Amino acid sequence: MTYRVSNFINGETTESRSERFGAIFNPATGQQQGQVVLSTAAECDEAIAMAARAFADWSQTPPLVRARVLFRFKELMEQHRDDLARLISREHGKVFSDAQGELTRGLEVVEFACGIPHLLKGEHSLNVGRGVDSYSMMQPVGVCAGITPFNFPAMVPLWMFPVAIACGNTFILKPSEKDPSLSLRMAELLKQAGLPDGVLNVVNGDKEVVDVLLTDSRVGAVSFVGSTPIAQYIYATASAHGKRVQALGGAKNHMLVMPDADLDQAVSALMGAAYGAAGERCMAISVAVVVGDETADALVAKLSPLVVQLRVGPGLGQTPENEMGPLISREHLAKVRDYVDQGVAEGALLRVDGRGVSHGEGYFIGGSLFDEVTPDMRIYREEIFGPVLAIVRAPDYETALKLINEHEYGNGTAIFTCDGDTARDFTARVQVGMVGVNVPIPVPMAFHSFGGWKRSIFGPLNMHGPDGVRFYTRMKTVTARWPRSLRAGTEFSMPTMK
Ligand code: NAD
Repeated sequence: MTYRVSNFINGETTESRSERFGAIFNPATGQQQGQVVLSTAAECDEAIAMAARAFADWSQTPPLVRARVLFRFKELMEQHRDDLARLISREHGKVFSDAQGELTRGLEVVEFACGIPHLLKGEHSLNVGRGVDSYSMMQPVGVCAGITPFNFPAMVPLWMFPVAIACGNTFILKPSEKDPSLSLRMAELLKQAGLPDGVLNVVNGDKEVVDVLLTDSRVGAVSFVGSTPIAQYIYATASAHGKRVQALGGAKNHMLVMPDADLDQAVSALMGAAYGAAGERCMAISVAVVVGDETADALVAKLSPLVVQLRVGPGLGQTPENEMGPLISREHLAKVRDYVDQGVAEGALLRVDGRGVSHGEGYFIGGSLFDEVTPDMRIYREEIFGPVLAIVRAPDYETALKLINEHEYGNGTAIFTCDGDTARDFTARVQVGMVGVNVPIPVPMAFHSFGGWKRSIFGPLNMHGPDGVRFYTRMKTVTARWPRSLRAGTEFSMPTMK
C-alpha cells in the first residue's frame, strides 16, 4: 500500500478523521496500491458549509471571469495529460490510449463551459405590452452535488462540475471509491487555475456521505451517474427532499445490423464498441440484433476470429498497446464469468469463450461472443458490464425494432444499414435516447446533451450541453414597466397587455 486518498475541502487537501477506508487496487495486477478515506457524515456537512459560504461571492463573480478560470484549468489539464491518463489506467485498468480519449471527451465539456457568458444571456422581449419589457435571468441554483461511477473517473465528473461552476454554483463531488485519485487531482489543478476556495470540494466515501448530500437542505441539485438501482434511489430520495435531480443509470445497448449493411464496417464497429474498455462503458454495445440468418452467419464468421485474436493485457507499458485491459475488481470479474456460465446454461451458443484468458493475478477475462441469444435469457435482459457480446437473430426489421423498444434500458443504440429510409424510420421510432446511424457509440458532443430514456435515466434533464446549463440554473422572468408609462387606475381582472 503506497498512498492514501483523502478529501479536498475549501481549497485544501484535508486529512480525514474517519476510521473507515476503502482499498484501491491495481486491476492489472490484483494488488492493493492505496486506500481511500470513507468520510463521515460530519465531514460532508463541513464541506457543504464551505460550499455554501463560497457561493455568496462565486455566484456574483462575472461569468467571463469564471470562464477564464476554466480556460486556465483546461490548459493545465492538457499540460498534465499523460500523467492523468496514466493515473486513470493505474486505478481503472483501461489502456492508455483509451484513458487519453476519455480525457479528451471530458475536456470538451470544459471547452463548452468556457462559453458560459454567451450561454447565460437569457431571453429578452421588448414591448410585451405598451411600455413594458420582459426578460429572463438564468441564476445559479446554489450548492450542487455530483456522485460518479468508476468507469469514467475523469469524464463523468467533467460532465458535471465545469458546467455547474461556470453557471455560478459551488460543487461537492463524491467520486467512485474504486478510482478516486483523478477527482482530487482535478480539484488541485482547478485551484492552481485560480478557482476560489470552497467552490469545488471533493468528499470521498460511500452511502454515508451520499445520504447527507441527498437530504441536506443546503444542497439544491444532485447529479448522479451509476447503476440503475442506485440511480432510482438517488432520484427518489433527493427529489423527496426538494432537490432537482438528474440520475443516469445502466444500459443494454443494441446495434441493429440490416442485411444491406456494409458488413466489414459493422464488424469493425462492433469490435470497438463491444470490447473497448472491456465492455465497461455505459454506451458499449452488448447486443447485436441481426436481421436474417444469412446476415447473422456472415457476421459471426467475420467476428469470431477477431474476438479470439483480441490483445488482452495490462493497460500500461506494453508495445504494441493491448486492445483490452482488465475489469475493475475481483468481484466484478466473478460476476462477468458467472454471466458467461449462465448464458451457456440457458442454451445460448458460446462461439468464443473468454474465460480461459488470464494474466497473473489481474482481473482479466477475454472477449466472449454468444450467438442465438433469445430475449428471455438473463444474459439478454441484464446489464453484464463486461466484454460479452450477445447476438440475437431477428427475422425482419420490425421484430428487431420491437425488441429494442421493449427492453427496460434505453441509453444508446445504433443501426447499420445503407438504406436512408430504414435509418430515418429507425431514428424516429426507436425508444432510446442516443441513436447512431452507422456510428456504433453515438456519445453526443459536449455542446449537445447526453442522456438515455426509460430506466437509463431518472429526471427530465440530460448532462452537459444546453440541458446541463438548464439543470444548473434557475430561470427568473422579469416584467418591467417604468413610471412614465404607468397606467392610471387599479386593475382587478387578470392583467393582459394592450
Ligand atoms: P454504482 O451505482 O455502483 O456506483 C455509482 C456511485 O454511487 C459511486 O460513487 C458509489 O459510491 C455510489 N453508491 C453505490 N452504492 C450506493 C448506495 N447504496 N447509496 C448511495 N450511493 C451509492 O455504479 P458503478 O459500478 O460505479 O458504475 C457502473 C454503472 O454505471 C453501470 O451500471 C453503468 O451502466 C453505469 N453508467 C451509466 C452511465 C450513463 O451515462 N447512463 C455512464 C457511466 C456509467
